[in-house]
Amino acid sequence: MRIVRVAVAGETVVGRLLDEGVEELAGWPVAPRPTGRRFARDAVRLLAPVVPSKIVAIGRNYLAHIAEMGYEPPPEPSLFLKPPSSVIGPDDDVVLPPRDLTAEVQHEAEVAVVIGRRARHLTRDEVWGAIAGVTCADDVTARDLQRRDPGLTRAKSFDTFCPIGPWVETEVDLRGGLSVSCHVNGELRQQGHSSGLVHDIAAILAFASQVMTLEPGDVVLTGSPGGTATLHPGDRVRIGVEGVGTLEHGCVRAPVPTA
Ligand code: MG
Repeated sequence: MRIVRVAVAGETVVGRLLDEGVEELAGWPVAPRPTGRRFARDAVRLLAPVVPSKIVAIGRNYLAHIAEMGYEPPPEPSLFLKPPSSVIGPDDDVVLPPRDLTAEVQHEAEVAVVIGRRARHLTRDEVWGAIAGVTCADDVTARDLQRRDPGLTRAKSFDTFCPIGPWVETEVDLRGGLSVSCHVNGELRQQGHSSGLVHDIAAILAFASQVMTLEPGDVVLTGSPGGTATLHPGDRVRIGVEGVGTLEHGCVRAPVPTA
């Protein structure tokens, strides 16, 4: 099942994507039930599929990306947060900040796990029952600020730095791992498989849930493969996750603020 959030006739609706349109669901992901309303496919515009209370992210989780950054594999999952204000939806634009703030904004294609129920202190075995589904994400990162700052917050948190979507696929099995890829302007930039994670998805969710309560709709970014590279205005980015689909977004340069 593909869960979408759409704009339709001035409303925001959550539902199931069908060939002919969208069937509205109330209560997703905790207790989904059809409301009986349906909308034609050409009447809706896809939005980010969830509105997370937080985006939990894991850094340094693919060996090729660790190597290109010059790091060592971390003994425990390397946990950070992105703010909900960084989320954008399918076909939206990442806004590259003015160049005096950062000149090295990079893409990071990631398998994004969506939480389905309130979860705290999960064991590895309990993780699978807490997941609503999987979507695609770009953990957009100001690489120069990541190197310069003592923490990750500024590098990871600009508005628009978290494209997610186009939907949440609820029937994909994460346990064997999924391939993830990134094309920029049609050229393959990143390719990886989540079976090669330093800390696997069960480990990440169990670890994060010892720290904070995971809420329905929260998003967990599982790390990026190697091949991250700098984005430029006009770039078209396509993130693919096996069994889910592809997320596309554009890139524009922010105007210089005027007084
Ligand atoms: Mg990342």
